[in-house]
Amino acid sequence: MCSRVEEDFTDGPVRKLKSDKVRISRLCMKCGENEGKVVIRMNDPFCWDCFLVYVVHKFRAVIGKSKLIRDAEAVLLAYSGGSSSSALLHLVHDGMEKSKFKKLRFKADVVYIDEGATFGWNWEKRQEIVFHIVDFCKSFGFTYYITSIEQVFKLIPHSKGKDLSAVPTVMKNCCQCVPQNQDLEEKLLKLLDTCKNLTFKERLVHHLRTELLIAVALMTGNSKVMLGTSGNRLAVQMLSDIAQGRGAHVALNTGFSDARNEDIMIVRPLKDFTNKEVALYNRFNSVESVTSTSVTTMTTSRTSIERLTEKFVTGLQTEYPSTVCNITRTAEKLDSHLGHTTESRCALCKAWLDTSVDNASALNSLRLSHVLSKGGSLVQQNGIINGHDSDDLSDLLCYGCQAVVSQLASADYLPQHMKKSEKQQNLRLLQKESIQNFLIDES
Ligand SMILES: [Zn+2]
Ligand SMILES: [Zn+2]
Repeated sequence: MCSRVEEDFTDGPVRKLKSDKVRISRLCMKCGENEGKVVIRMNDPFCWDCFLVYVVHKFRAVIGKSKLIRDAEAVLLAYSGGSSSSALLHLVHDGMEKSKFKKLRFKADVVYIDEGATFGWNWEKRQEIVFHIVDFCKSFGFTYYITSIEQVFKLIPHSKGKDLSAVPTVMKNCCQCVPQNQDLEEKLLKLLDTCKNLTFKERLVHHLRTELLIAVALMTGNSKVMLGTSGNRLAVQMLSDIAQGRGAHVALNTGFSDARNEDIMIVRPLKDFTNKEVALYNRFNSVESVTSTSVTTMTTSRTSIERLTEKFVTGLQTEYPSTVCNITRTAEKLDSHLGHTTESRCALCKAWLDTSVDNASALNSLRLSHVLSKGGSLVQQNGIINGHDSDDLSDLLCYGCQAVVSQLASADYLPQHMKKSEKQQNLRLLQKESIQNFLIDES
């Protein structure tokens, strides 16, 4: 097995050891027999065989330890075509095939969301990518679904599957893109065009993608969505979340499980894997990624908070290899339920609202400047400043999402279900909360 990859995968610490001429004499820290070929942590070389065992064990251990995924449970693997989700598909397939210790016993389907419209790709380019995606999924024998991000605009609140026009088009085991729907595409582009700030645009696409993933999981009878987000990505997200005022939701956004949606739970089993480990695993198994494009691809590091944070974390990780691990471990210790005093959810990100704050708060300043910049008049109710706008969604949004929506020329361009269903649900919850004090406790 070791002979399969002859040369070293040189990167950071490996190069350092090479230059010190220490590497040649180092044996694998695990078996103590083979020559160390891969350095994951400083001074801990692995041979290829032991590295593979280490990765597979880590992956299965994180799933087993959580005790969240039951035997035969239907899980939807979200495949983006990038290296981490490619590794995820390989790890899941490998874990189901071989009768090893801790064999994975859940059922897995794959979904690919074509986001070509957000990058301005033409139809041929999108179709070409779908062909590659399909080839990759077929090689594992998974049932796969293909849809496109603009389909999220079909979702209508409370349609309960009776209205077929409210169901996103999803192709099953088919090598074609979802048929082009210019009306939906226009809605998507209008929404993105109205958001000039790339930080918020990235976030908006993230929410639309998550919403569609949940909808596809519900449609296809899956009860969990598994993401292939690596530790590096989660570390970047944690820091940029804090920078964007989403501190209250860090644990939900970056932990192993995200249960903000009552029907579908999101899990992130690659949360303890660095990009380097993913790249090495893919290289050893000849797993090739298909695409890894986002709205900030080919832009400089200063275009969005996330890109800037990524540059910061990557730079730090090169010098201090335990950076990512330290950041994700810190996120792990945070309690996802701490501090939320209401059951009302944010219309955009679906996290609990974090907007019950004092008069003199950053949130009220944000509202004040937003209302003033739009030339509106102010209403002050219980210390909370709101505009006179009847379509104002601010009472339905968390702090972070208020900033996103304040960047939009109009919230009208948001998908319907992101405005109305939550308005109704939140009203119901507010009513429930307000009468709570008058209810007689049985005890
Ligand atoms: Zn070894
Ligand atoms: Zn939110």
